[in-house]
Amino acid sequence: MCVFCKIVNKEIPAKVVYEDDKVMAFHDINPQAPVHILVIPKEHIPTVNDLEEKHKELIGHIFMVIKKIAKEMGIAESGYRVLVNCNRDGGQEIYHLHFHLLGGAPLGPMVCR
Ligand code: 5GP
Ligand code: ZN
Repeated sequence: MCVFCKIVNKEIPAKVVYEDDKVMAFHDINPQAPVHILVIPKEHIPTVNDLEEKHKELIGHIFMVIKKIAKEMGIAESGYRVLVNCNRDGGQEIYHLHFHLLGGAPLGPMVCR
């Protein structure tokens, strides 16, 4: 079982900030900004490449959750970045789809390298 499925199953701990029947959100273990939350579907979807038509509502729901968390974390007005890495060139380390929510300080320009 992958590490994020283990977090979903509460087999390993995480600082959870949001949970419902479809989605979970928790603090990144190695934060890259003052606010760094990972928002994941509970379903094990490895990468963006594995998304199907049936996931459209789930992805929309994830963005509504991101919006809610950004407000709760106090970064909605100041701003934030939502980031998804895919496969090797995207720098994906955990092969369970996740959305990085980063903010709390100016993040600088989009970085390619
Ligand atoms: P990726 O590079 O796959 O887009 O991002 C994976 C993220 O998961 C990294 O930012 C990393 O710090 C985070 N991460 C890896 N293992 C764990 C863990 O066990 N718990 C938490 N909370 N975050 C993790
Ligand atoms: Zn998984």
